Amino acid sequence: MEKWSNPIRQYCHTHGYDRMKLKTIMFDMDGVLFDSMPNHAWAWHKAMEYYGLDLPEAEAFMHEGRTGAGTINIVTRRQLGRGADADECERIYKKKSEYFNQRPEAGRMPGAIEVVTAVKQCGITPIIVTGSGTTSLLDRIEENYPKLFRHEWMVAARDVTIGKPDPEPYLMGMKKAGNITPQQTMVVENAPLGVQAGVAAGCFVIAVNTGPLPDSALTNEGAHLLFHSMTELSQHIKDIIHTSNQPDTHASDHLDIHTSGNLGL
Ligand code: MG
Repeated sequence: MEKWSNPIRQYCHTHGYDRMKLKTIMFDMDGVLFDSMPNHAWAWHKAMEYYGLDLPEAEAFMHEGRTGAGTINIVTRRQLGRGADADECERIYKKKSEYFNQRPEAGRMPGAIEVVTAVKQCGITPIIVTGSGTTSLLDRIEENYPKLFRHEWMVAARDVTIGKPDPEPYLMGMKKAGNITPQQTMVVENAPLGVQAGVAAGCFVIAVNTGPLPDSALTNEGAHLLFHSMTELSQHIKDIIHTSNQPDTHASDHLDIHTSGNLGL
């Protein structure tokens, strides 16, 4: 097993690849590109409370990535013993968006522009795959990440029906990017359900734990690498890309995965 201790080699071995052939890296938006999760968690809590329902802020982080209706149904089933109908989902989600928009604007996640810029410098196309329908953030992508993302390949809430943790959004991202394969892509995610979606799509998943959850919430879902901030990832992303594209024989020397102490599983 020693030979496969490097997570990239392990991933390639599991999937029968001699190396990756990276073309794109798919970035989740909330909690990865924008420091928006505290606002989302608060807005979910307040909107549920407004309708007599209970969703603690801490729990909202666990549901991150679900469609709005998915989260609402979990709460109504638990509390009312029934699913929510379409009108109810629309009302609650609208209220949640109102509360979200009351908060100070979420800023760019520290280190994220460095990560995305490095990806682009390596000749890899960065794309966004999000379950979010939060137009206030989607509209600010270009302003915060000028000329970095390939917008026609973006996947957002309007494009998906099931949403994370289903692999649907990432499969759609690969389809939009020209029917590329998991061997040609990586995923950057901060949420357990997002990691689950990326893994289920067959992708190599880099988890970035930017929120309050324990690391195990991400590694238990199968994340292949884990960082604690986008700034930390920015220091390694070029090595990761370089290593992933090397055939097995030259590989693991380039990524000093074990000495950093916070990479790998
Ligand atoms: Mg996220």
